[in-house]
Parts: sequence; C-alpha cells; structure tokens
Amino acid sequence: MKIQDILDKDIMYLQGVGPKRAELFRKELGISTYRDLLNYYPYKYVDRSKFYKVSEIDSELPVIQMKGTLTEYIMEGHGKGRRLTAIFSDDTGSLRLVWFKGVKWIPGTYPAGKDYVIFGKPNVFGGTWNIIHPEIESVEKLTVRKSSSLQAQYSLTEALRNNFVTSRVINKLAGTILSQLPGDLPETLPGYLVEKYRLASLNNAVARIHFPDSLKELEQAKYRLKFEELFYIQLKLLRQKSLRNKKIKGIIFERVGDNLNTFYKKHLPFALTDAQKRVIKEMRRDMGSGHQMNRLLQGDVGSGKTIVALMCILIAIDNGYQSCLMAPTEILATQHYNSIKSFLGDMNIKTKLLTGSTKKKERDEIEKSLLDGSLNILVGTHALIEDNVVFKKLGFVVIDEQHRFGVAQRGKLWQKSLTPPHMLVMTATPIPRTLAMTLYGDLDVSVINQLPPGRKKIITMHYFDSSRDAVYGFMRKQIKMGSQVYVVYPLIRESEKMDYKALEEGLEIIESYFPPPQYAISVVHGKMPVKNKEVSMDLFKKNQTHIMVATTVIEVGVDIPNASVMVIESAERFGLSQLHQLRGRVGRGADQSYCILLSSQKISKEAAKRMEIMVNTNDGFEISEADLQLRGPGDIEGTQQSGMPFEMKIADLARDGAIIEYVRKIAAEIIDHDPNLETDRNRILMNQINRLFPADRSWSLIS
Ligand code: ADP
Ligand code: MG
Repeated sequence: MKIQDILDKDIMYLQGVGPKRAELFRKELGISTYRDLLNYYPYKYVDRSKFYKVSEIDSELPVIQMKGTLTEYIMEGHGKGRRLTAIFSDDTGSLRLVWFKGVKWIPGTYPAGKDYVIFGKPNVFGGTWNIIHPEIESVEKLTVRKSSSLQAQYSLTEALRNNFVTSRVINKLAGTILSQLPGDLPETLPGYLVEKYRLASLNNAVARIHFPDSLKELEQAKYRLKFEELFYIQLKLLRQKSLRNKKIKGIIFERVGDNLNTFYKKHLPFALTDAQKRVIKEMRRDMGSGHQMNRLLQGDVGSGKTIVALMCILIAIDNGYQSCLMAPTEILATQHYNSIKSFLGDMNIKTKLLTGSTKKKERDEIEKSLLDGSLNILVGTHALIEDNVVFKKLGFVVIDEQHRFGVAQRGKLWQKSLTPPHMLVMTATPIPRTLAMTLYGDLDVSVINQLPPGRKKIITMHYFDSSRDAVYGFMRKQIKMGSQVYVVYPLIRESEKMDYKALEEGLEIIESYFPPPQYAISVVHGKMPVKNKEVSMDLFKKNQTHIMVATTVIEVGVDIPNASVMVIESAERFGLSQLHQLRGRVGRGADQSYCILLSSQKISKEAAKRMEIMVNTNDGFEISEADLQLRGPGDIEGTQQSGMPFEMKIADLARDGAIIEYVRKIAAEIIDHDPNLETDRNRILMNQINRLFPADRSWSLIS
C-alpha cells in the first residue's frame, strides 16, 4: 500500500481503535484518518523522569507522576453512581485514586498491595487529594519502558477520558501508525524551502512531536510544523489577494472634484492630522490605480477614522458614484448619519439613514432614490444588505466596526455592484499586527497612529466596590463642574437576566444618591424600545441629564464631548479591548477626563493585570498587544463573532508573531515570482493549498 493510502485509512482499522473508539475520535477530536491522528499534536510534555511525593502536591501542579503502593480498594454507591476508590501511599503520605468507569475490572488488573506508578491531575475533594481516572501501571513495566522521558500530553475530552483514552493511548496509536509506514512521510513543503530555511523534514518533525528524544529535537519539530502551518495560511491569503487584483478591475476614481474641494475648504472644522492625510493619500492612490481597493483602516479610538471615510466618500461622489456606510448597531449608524449630515452642512449631497426601524414610506423613497441615482450616501445597519436595497452605481463601501459582521454579510454588499466597489473596513480599536496579518491578511492596511491635537490623557483609576461612596462623591464634584457621567454595566449574553438585574439594582442606588430635581438620569439598554432609547440618548446629548446609566450598547462610537467621566461597573468582567473602547467614549472634549474601573475586591490575577494595564496606558496599540498575550487569540474581540478563518493545529498567534512575519515575507516573495504557483518546484505548494483550504467558497475573493 502506498503511504498516502495508508494515511487516508479510516482510524477504525488501526490496531487498538475499533468502531466504538473511532466514533469517539471523530466526534470528540475530529480525527477520522491515520493522517488526522498523526496531525493531532500534543499541547505539552511532561517530564516522566520526575516523580513527586504526596507531600509535594500542590494545586498549581497540572499533572504529576508518583510512585507508591496501592493499599486497598473501596467500592461506594451503586448503579450509575458507583465509584471505586483506592488508597495510594508513599513514605510521605497518601491520597485517593477515583474511578467512575471500569470499576469492575480495575481491581483485578491492578491488584491491591503492590507498587505502581500513577499519573494524573490532583484535585482536592472531601479534604484530601484525589486523582480521578489516573494513568496507572506496575513498577516493573516502568523499568522496561524505553520511550523518552518527555511524555506527550494531548488535549482530551471528558468522554474520551471516560473511555480510557488517555494521552498515553493516543501517543501509542501515533507510534503504531508511524511504525506501519513503509517509508518516510512525504514532504509537504518544497525541498528548496526545507533546505534554505534549515527545517526539519516532515517525517522527522511528526515523529519527534509525538516522541521527542530531547528538548532540542522537540523545538526543531515544533518550529518546522509551525512554520509550515503559518506559511500556508500566508501563501493562501497572498495568493487570494493577487488573484483578486488580477481578476477584478477596480473602478477608477480619477477626479478630485468640487465636492471634496468645497468640503476641504469650507466645511472641514479642523485641520487633519498628518496620519489622516497620509491614509487618505493611500486610499486615493488605490482608488485611482485600476485595482479594486480592499483596505483595513486601523486607528485608536478617537483617532478620527470617520472623517477619513467621509472624504473618500466625497471622492466617490465626485466621480459619479454612490457610497454606503454600514455600522453594526442602530445607535452607531444613527450617530454616523448625524455626524456626516453635520459635517456636510449645506452641501448639495443627499444622505439617508436605513435601519430596521425605518418606516415603510421612507424606505420606499430611499429605494427609489438609490435606483435613480439621486441618493449619494446611504448610512445604515444590516438593513443595507437586504436584497431590495439596489444601487444605481455603487462605488465605495465603508464597513465600521468590521469585526461584528461576518464575511458573508460583507460579501453581500460587494455584490451590490456589477463592478465591485472599493471597500474600506474599519476596526473599532487596533488589533495586533500579526493578528491582522492572519485575520485580514489579504487586505492592505492603513494605520492612523496619531490622535488629533489637544487631547488630554484620560486619567484611569481602579477602585474596589467598597470605595463606592468615594466614587459617587467624585461624580458629584464633576457634575457640579458641568461634566456629564456615564455609568456602564456589563452585559454578557450568557448571563443576560442577571446583568439586567444588576443594572436595575445599580440604577436604584444611583437614583438614591443622585435624586431629582437636582440630578437627572438617562437610561439606555438593549431591551428598551428604540424610541425611548433615542429620547434618552438625546437628553444626555443635549446636556439635559447628568448621568447616563447604560449597558455596553454605548460601547461603539457614541460621541458626546461634554461627557468626561466614565464609571465602569464590574470592570473585571470586561476584556481589555472592550474596556479601552468604552474608555474612548470620554476624552472627546476639552475637559480633563476620567475613567473609573469599579471591581469587586476578589478578582482573578488576570483581571487584576487588565486593570493595571488600563491604569497604565491609553495606547490602544499597546493594549491590543497586551490583550493578545493575556488572553490568546481565540478570545480577542474580532475573532469571536466571525470566528477564526483558519484552524491552527500548532501555531499560536499570540506567541508566534515573529514566525508569522517571517513566513509572510517568504510567501510574498514566492507569489511575486510565481503568482500561479505553476513552476515545477512550486507545484507542491498549489497542491497543498488545495488540500488545506478545500472548495474555494463563493466568497473566497471577498474580504
Ligand atoms: P474613531 O476613529 O474612534 O471613529 P471619530 O471618527 O469618531 O473617531 O473621531 C473622534 C472625534 O474627533 C470626532 O468628534 C471627530 O470629529 C474628531 N476629529 C477627527 N479628526 C480630527 C482632527 N484632525 N482634529 C480635531 N478633531 C478631530
Ligand atoms: Mg468610530
């Protein structure tokens, strides 16, 4: 049998698996073939040359190995609740081994009164240490075990553990497959790359990742596999980008006409920052190049992305094209609409707002004016992507807070024009460079790395609940000086009910501390009718209320310069980027602004770290890097809604940034010289891309 055929074999046929376990592997780990199992890499290794004593156990230890005597078995409970416990002791003390499954055969297989080596994670339960479902083997066996002392640990699930699929089982299965192969695993990178970048061969890397003989070998194996994984992602993205550029003719905006000039001379209320000018230039170049623009605009909260988008919209209008701007929430869309209207003043440009709550009559009118071309700018929410929204000549699309939309939704906007419009996507807060390279690796990136002049640094403080009185005192003082205050409550989908309760109770307390007629309070949350929300927001905006109590609906984009204090309740429950985005709602006016993080006394180490970072820096780029390090990429805002486009088997976006930059350069060079990957030496690259990223979906060209 050829190696490829063996690798494609169903895992069921592997010795030690069988139909029942095969089903489990499929369901729990997505492993169906021999290849899948070989590609199921360990997530860590434990040093099996180290033995712990009972007296050394502490809760920080993940998994440990011990040597001792199993003195007796105790059977407890009955039926489904039956449980087998064994007392296991060494010369320093004893602990309990616990089984819920296999209770019938374990005492026979591992008789009491003998010495064993056990391995597992200790937990405290019932006042003593317990290891549930430990790995166990007799001490004699240990002396003949010849595998290395670095033992691979694989991520497992409860169901697997209950069926005695341990790390050792998976490791053994990987070994069985490797021993059955009639030769080396076929190389999946071109030989010239393996050589030039001094990579381990695939065969070596896979064998060593499961069975490392030394730390050095392990590092080489990991590097090779990470290199390959990240390289193919970059190659795929860059090829996609180059294909798109070749296939798709972009609309050419060559004129800078009256609208942009008039706006620049007569309406622009401030001088643009150098960064804003640079970014507008970058986009003008794109839009005049004959290629379709696909650009990601990164900028910190308050860096002025909106005006940049608007000026590009004006270029589109000057060239006879319509534009649209899509935002994720009604509040934000309305806000964009209002600020665009006020920026444009009396200019002869027709702008409309379309959201879920737009009335039928207005909607009909919008649809008509879109079709006859008299409507220049359409701002809105998801409502924009509905089928009956048809443009006469759509040339420029802006998507704000891009991470809240899925690829498919963006694709729909793209399809609203025969010739794809230029696309500008904007993030709410910066995302780390290497994450952007992966999430948006086929887009060009512009960065506004400068805030408008005169912004004062927001002073951020962290208080515990117990200092609530002091915080209210501070709020009073600030209100007396003419400021307005936001009080924000977290709203997490899973605990929505409790969160609303917290908000209601909090509101009651605030109302008692800030009673009418001296104080007026606005309330805004997602469960309110839109009308009430608007009224509430409006009162706050017009400075007729002093305090706005809100859920995170205000997180995005709300711009009220006179509000200079933000109190964030249960701040420990927010992620860093969300805190930073919330904080960005203040510091927009001339006054010194404050952000107060309120948390309970007892918070996790990580939460404390987040508070510390917030207090220490105002820089969104710095915060996003810290966030990536703290939480890992899976939790980074921007990857939750739309999900990571690529599943990583071994690389870690938080840790492997340097490799990402490195392989992107290598991939770029290859695509430059051989865009279709059709030379002999690169053919293997094309095959791998097709294998790794099957079925180019219809949106594959869309970003
Ligand atoms: P964000 O990048 O967070 O979307 P906005 O576009 O909402 O930021 O801009 C924040 C505020 O700064 C707005 O009130 C905007 O009008 C103002 N602004 C933007 N650019 C400048 C500038 N160059 N000088 C002064 N104020 C500016
Ligand atoms: Mg914005």
